[in-house]
Amino acid sequence: MAARAARAADLADLDGAVSDCFACPRLVAWREEVARVKRAAFRDQDYWGRPVPGLGPPGARIAILGLAPAAHGGNRTGRIFTGDRSGDVLFAALHRAGLANQPTSVAADDGLTLRDTRIFAAVRCAPPDNKPTPAERDTCAPWLHREVELIRPTLRVVVALGAFAWAAWWPVLRRVYGQRPPTPRPVFGHGAHWSGESVPALLGCYHVSQQNTFTGRLTPAMLDDVFTRAKDLAGVD
Ligand code: SF4
Repeated sequence: MAARAARAADLADLDGAVSDCFACPRLVAWREEVARVKRAAFRDQDYWGRPVPGLGPPGARIAILGLAPAAHGGNRTGRIFTGDRSGDVLFAALHRAGLANQPTSVAADDGLTLRDTRIFAAVRCAPPDNKPTPAERDTCAPWLHREVELIRPTLRVVVALGAFAWAAWWPVLRRVYGQRPPTPRPVFGHGAHWSGESVPALLGCYHVSQQNTFTGRLTPAMLDDVFTRAKDLAGVD
């Protein structure tokens, strides 16, 4: 699997290859079980039930790094953050920031396009309880590393959604940029900002999970601040 990821010639090739990955037995079983049983509200739909590739154009200057697809969101629709409440909040914010052409993301064929932004997850399959194991995170890392490598020429800023994504970034520095991560590792927090030499800036943002957005821990204004900073750092108008 790592060799296949490394061989991906471009983002389209990578997206196709990752969709056909079966490397994690527990996650393969879970994504397929969810796709078979379904949620009642979606019982008439065909679930994707596979790894979920990244979304966004080549040449993106901003990356948004999430944790993993949602069982009835990305795992259902086949597109990252699409078809669930987390995506509703994220894409509304991206639209306000001028980084998405529409504020909603409900299905893979709904016409959504991103500007200067690529979204991907540290783990590409939906995990039970949204909790991948460390071994699953490490197994999936080559997909992330190759994706960053492919947009490296333009990538300037990475927005890490939550502590899991923040932690997943440090191995990227070593594998893609050949740099030793800072020691001790900078601590994740909303608004945390780390910059290194000749590598993308890293911005921390609370995850757009319902747990955070329904409780007011993460508000639309807080997301707007993060994307304003990301655009400034990336030189995006
Ligand atoms: S989590 Fe990643 S490595 Fe594991 S099966 Fe899914 S795509 Fe493959």
